[in-house]
Amino acid sequence: MSALTLADVYRARQRIAGRAIATPLVQSQSLTPCGGRAGSSQARNASEPTGSFKLRGATNALAHIAEEGGKRVVTASTGNHGRTVAHAARALGIEAAVCMSSLVPKNKVDAVAALGARVVIAGKSQDDAQVEALRLVKEEGYAFVPPFDDARVIAGQATISLEILEALPDAGTILVPLLGGGFFSGVAFAAKHIKPDARLIGISMQRGAALHARLEAGKPVFVEENSKHSPIH
Ligand SMILES: *Cc1c(COP(=O)(O)O)cnc(C)c1O
Repeated sequence: MSALTLADVYRARQRIAGRAIATPLVQSQSLTPCGGRAGSSQARNASEPTGSFKLRGATNALAHIAEEGGKRVVTASTGNHGRTVAHAARALGIEAAVCMSSLVPKNKVDAVAALGARVVIAGKSQDDAQVEALRLVKEEGYAFVPPFDDARVIAGQATISLEILEALPDAGTILVPLLGGGFFSGVAFAAKHIKPDARLIGISMQRGAALHARLEAGKPVFVEENSKHSPIH
């Protein structure tokens, strides 16, 4: 896919329709006092089969791959992304492999396996697992699905902005959880195209705030990953 366009986001919405659940905005008790206006949030996590909005991005990426004739996908993951790819692959009738390091807890490995994915345990870190995933791409013809750094994933996550701004056309500020930045990129991209004066704020955990560190430094920097505190991808 070349540079992302708003049309890609609308196409992503069509692609994932019926596969990722559109969730309503709900009034948030904890946000309402902030800024003197009604706070709203999407009941996103609870209602998705894998407990994460990630299903949108993964489903859009996998649907692209399936449309192009791809039959097997691989990812490296310690958590939500691997489960989501496994789930989306099963829904689309394609094979998934999820590479995880030996440090990933058994319950997470079991959750991925229970979704019918091939589980590959490799090395002692997420980086090792990614090396193995890329080996499967090269040697076994899998298509790689990155957790966030991917235009198809970003377009899928961006569909949330379409829903937010349809439900609340005068939304002033949109707060987005942020780690690798795929979710924030998508939400900000679509929201800014539709409503240029919307304010977008990405909120990262203090530990492993990689994107924040990168923007501060003005160049990519190494940030220690603490899987106990950031078991997200
Ligand atoms: C994946 C995930 C994030 C971070 O998404 P990025 O695209 O990596 O920024 C934040 N919160 C939750 C609950 C997640 O599952």
